[in-house]
Amino acid sequence: MEHRREGTVVRALRRFLVTDPVPAEVELRCELCATPLPPEHPHLVQVAQRRLLCTCGPCGVLFDNPGAGGGGYARVPDRVLTDPGSTLTDAQWDALQIPVGLAFFLHNSVRGAVVACYPSPAGATESELTLTAWADGIGASGLAAQLVPDVEALLVRREPRTCLLVPIDACYRLVGLVRLHWRGFDGGQEAWAAIDDLFAELGGRARPC
Ligand SMILES: [Zn+2]
Ligand SMILES: [Zn+2]
Repeated sequence: MEHRREGTVVRALRRFLVTDPVPAEVELRCELCATPLPPEHPHLVQVAQRRLLCTCGPCGVLFDNPGAGGGGYARVPDRVLTDPGSTLTDAQWDALQIPVGLAFFLHNSVRGAVVACYPSPAGATESELTLTAWADGIGASGLAAQLVPDVEALLVRREPRTCLLVPIDACYRLVGLVRLHWRGFDGGQEAWAAIDDLFAELGGRARPC
């Protein structure tokens, strides 16, 4: 029974977090009003269905304030935050039991719990996260205190040790990059170059919390 429940959760996360890359020649359209979209556009999370939606600016504005739009949609914010004063120790990292050097943590309001995921060639995979490992480690950070449920995540990397509060769509991008580029056991150069680029971009946008 426990096993079945977990299988359902992992499938749900995959459906939630995996977005297939859209070929450049396919025109993106707002998923609420069908207006053509530029490459940079707002995203919404359809919370109960755990889906990410691309929207135009005006449709995104409707959901700017938490609870404003209703209908179970939440606007994905733009902010990236860092906390220069705190970092995870090796012991705290090891306690998270993440099999690759990358993970992200989100507060899922449907489950009422923090979920730990790591990117894998199969998509976003959920990791066992004990409450102790969360509460004594990254969950005690100033960044964790700011995490908005469903639309933001704490993104961590082992080497170089990095912890950022990011919009959840950055995690979708990370999962997509890993699915596209990961080769073999350790990922290979191409995958890590793409991951480095994403972290450099996010780090460049980050403000101290
Ligand atoms: Zn629209
Ligand atoms: Zn989009």
